[in-house]
Amino acid sequence: MLEIKQHISLKPFNTFGVEAKAKWWVEVTSEEQLLELAQSELFQKESPFILGAGSNVLFTQDVERLVVHNAIKGIRVVESSSDWVRVGFGAGEVWHDAVMHCIDHHWGGVENLALIPGTVGAAPVQNIGAYGVELKDVLHSIRALDRVSGRMVTLHSSDCAFGYRTSIFKAEAKDRYIITEVVLQLTTHSHGLHTDYGAIRDELNKKGVLSPTIRDIATAVIAIRSSKLPDPSVLGNAGSFFKNPTVDREVFERLNTAYPNMPSYPAQKGVKLSAGWLIEQCGWKGYREGNCGCYEKQALVLVNFGGASGRQILDLAQRIRESVLHRFQVDLEAEVNIL
Ligand SMILES: Cc1cc2nc3c(=O)[nH]c(=O)nc-3n(C[C@H](O)[C@H](O)[C@H](O)COP(=O)(O)OP(=O)(O)OC[C@H]3O[C@@H](n4cnc5c(N)ncnc54)[C@H](O)[C@@H]3O)c2cc1C
Repeated sequence: MLEIKQHISLKPFNTFGVEAKAKWWVEVTSEEQLLELAQSELFQKESPFILGAGSNVLFTQDVERLVVHNAIKGIRVVESSSDWVRVGFGAGEVWHDAVMHCIDHHWGGVENLALIPGTVGAAPVQNIGAYGVELKDVLHSIRALDRVSGRMVTLHSSDCAFGYRTSIFKAEAKDRYIITEVVLQLTTHSHGLHTDYGAIRDELNKKGVLSPTIRDIATAVIAIRSSKLPDPSVLGNAGSFFKNPTVDREVFERLNTAYPNMPSYPAQKGVKLSAGWLIEQCGWKGYREGNCGCYEKQALVLVNFGGASGRQILDLAQRIRESVLHRFQVDLEAEVNIL
């Protein structure tokens, strides 16, 4: 039974912990409920906004729309072979729990993505990634409601235009699809481990692990993340506020001559820079202004010390962006979805 509510506070539903009200609010727990909702006049009129765990959004004002909280659960094995298994996860499943479910079943592929907050359904939206692995590396397909046709559709990885922290769901098809299930293709043995990140290697060495299992990698990732990133239940934040910018070779050469210690990574087109480093060079690390600021251990993470508004956080983000542009002539793009 769908229960539509009005003027609901979104504070408990975003990890920044900022106050904003939803004009309309409904939680869906099954595909049937979503299809029922899609028939309603409210859904047609009020431009639905899909909310998972709110760990990648910044509300800067009340949401004058229908907020659909995705709580579709369920895990099922769709298909398997001698080498792999395809597993469907309901979009409302907690991403980290899904990762641990895979580890418990000896299914490999997502261990580097342990402890990323949020729901499974949001994972394809920005093609979540960490420690050398992105969702696209393990994604088989997505089941979604297409708001244009009003039908359930299946999208394969090649349909999603995945890129660094982006996909069609964040770009040309923004707000078009409501993802209900994500099917991952995982290895059942001979897992291709990704241990090349220095921090993972160091953590495994520290523990004396010479031949890591997928559980060892997940454990190492959990330890690294817990020591580096603020826990949103303690300090409001949405992880990296900005994407790491990609610049063309010419810009890179100019910056590299002026700042030889600047971290950089090869990218598909050009060179990727570290947004955290650029921001830190501008003096923002550990900065606090009233109730918001930059995390003391990572300047890229904007934090709400308690009571900050979305507008205050956005204002700080804009000044950070301007200072990086002024000093390095590099324009930062927000990774967080700003409403
Ligand atoms: C401490 C911290 C660390 C983080 N670390 C990382 C990291 O290492 N790598 C990384 O990639 N991200 C990271 N993030 C960002 C965040 O965890 C991911 O973007 C996550 O996928 C967001 O999930 P969510 O359910 O909270 O999405 P929400 O914030 O609720 O929504 C995000 C966007 O997805 C859309 N959306 C959500 N669900 C659906 C759906 N079912 N169908 C269609 N659209 C949908 C929303 O409309 C919105 O535009 C971090 C965040 C925090 C707080």
